[in-house]
Amino acid sequence: MEDFMNTATHIQEKKENLREGFFGKFGGAYVPEVLKPILDELAEAYKTIVPTKEFQEEFRYYLKHYAGRPSPLYFAERLTEYCGGAKIYLKREDLNHTGAHKINHTIGEALLAKKMGKKKLIAETGAGQHGVATATVAARFGFDCDIYMGAVDVKKQAPNVLRMKLLGANVIEVNEGAATLKEAVDAALNAFVQNHEDVFYALGSAVGPHPYPSMVRDFQKIVGEEAEKQILEHEGRLPDYLIACVGGGSNAIGLFNQFLDYKEVNIIGVEPLGKGEKLGEHAATLNFGEEGIMHGFNSIMLKDEKGNPAPVYSIASGLDYPSVGPQHAFLKETGRAKYVAVTDREAIDALRILSEVEGIIPALESSHAIAYTIKFAKTLPKDKIIIVNLSGRGDKDLDTIFEILNLQV
Ligand SMILES: *Cc1c(COP(=O)(O)O)cnc(C)c1O
Repeated sequence: MEDFMNTATHIQEKKENLREGFFGKFGGAYVPEVLKPILDELAEAYKTIVPTKEFQEEFRYYLKHYAGRPSPLYFAERLTEYCGGAKIYLKREDLNHTGAHKINHTIGEALLAKKMGKKKLIAETGAGQHGVATATVAARFGFDCDIYMGAVDVKKQAPNVLRMKLLGANVIEVNEGAATLKEAVDAALNAFVQNHEDVFYALGSAVGPHPYPSMVRDFQKIVGEEAEKQILEHEGRLPDYLIACVGGGSNAIGLFNQFLDYKEVNIIGVEPLGKGEKLGEHAATLNFGEEGIMHGFNSIMLKDEKGNPAPVYSIASGLDYPSVGPQHAFLKETGRAKYVAVTDREAIDALRILSEVEGIIPALESSHAIAYTIKFAKTLPKDKIIIVNLSGRGDKDLDTIFEILNLQV
């Protein structure tokens, strides 16, 4: 497991799968032998169960009645005036149950786990957001739930630990090593390999070995499907620009997917530049990274001198990941999408601006998309249209924001 998490060593390419699960040269399933049959089972279930009418109807039912979809596409009139350029629309994923887009794919994962006859959902979590989303659907669909979390993170993220416990999940503290996200992933993967007959591993973004990047995208693509219909109702035409923040890339691909074939729609992902361009002070993977394999898939990643995943940082804990979903690496390579980066400072300023001019407090992650939008909209004529994915609400970040603004006052 150590090798699987750390580097590209001991990896055997799945030659027979060169098409399926790849986006150009990115993606794939570069995993140890023990994981191969388990992922094959999942890939088969994804291919045969998810497209069926029965699955799709059930999935859409829960998205509507449990998560609260469709989320509004809201014309941010005051933000538009504030910027004085392009028209800005916000896709309000912050209004979903649990306050972010993550509920979309965890509902999909839970339903698939049920169809596969699994009894337990497991997940790793860093800041706790993915842990809470997984614990939520475990409660709703009657699964046991083990969430692996580094002991250091458990102390830092007490409210999310409490949420998971209230939802009936076991929060398993991991004390190995630095006792943060990486050790939590190792522990969760070990548990998965040992109990895979009963267990479904719920991944938190459009990353990991095949079929996760495609599967998570398919559970998130509802965002762009709705946005297309909604912008046609509002404006009678497609948008000129889509903007979304990119951590692993699930909310971004969820919005982008529907528009990939419309060449007139420009696509922009926003990465976290943290404190600056020095390695270790940001997590702007597509801006500064190079091709490499980690966590079982080939993508663009940030490497240290030894070629291992570099330390990363962002004020938005949902964005600090040293790799990125393989489809984004492909969209960058082919030039279909562009990836920019904004700093912590710019994200915090954007959070304040959106709060003050629209009465909407965005998550720190989403604030990165807002920050770039504010800079960019100003440079565009008034007849251009931007859709921004507002991936989540800021309530979870109040402690962080409070600390920063206190320092500033
Ligand atoms: C987790 C999270 C993200 C980052 O994850 P992606 O997979 O890149 O979407 C962004 N926004 C919010 C609100 C999150 O909770």
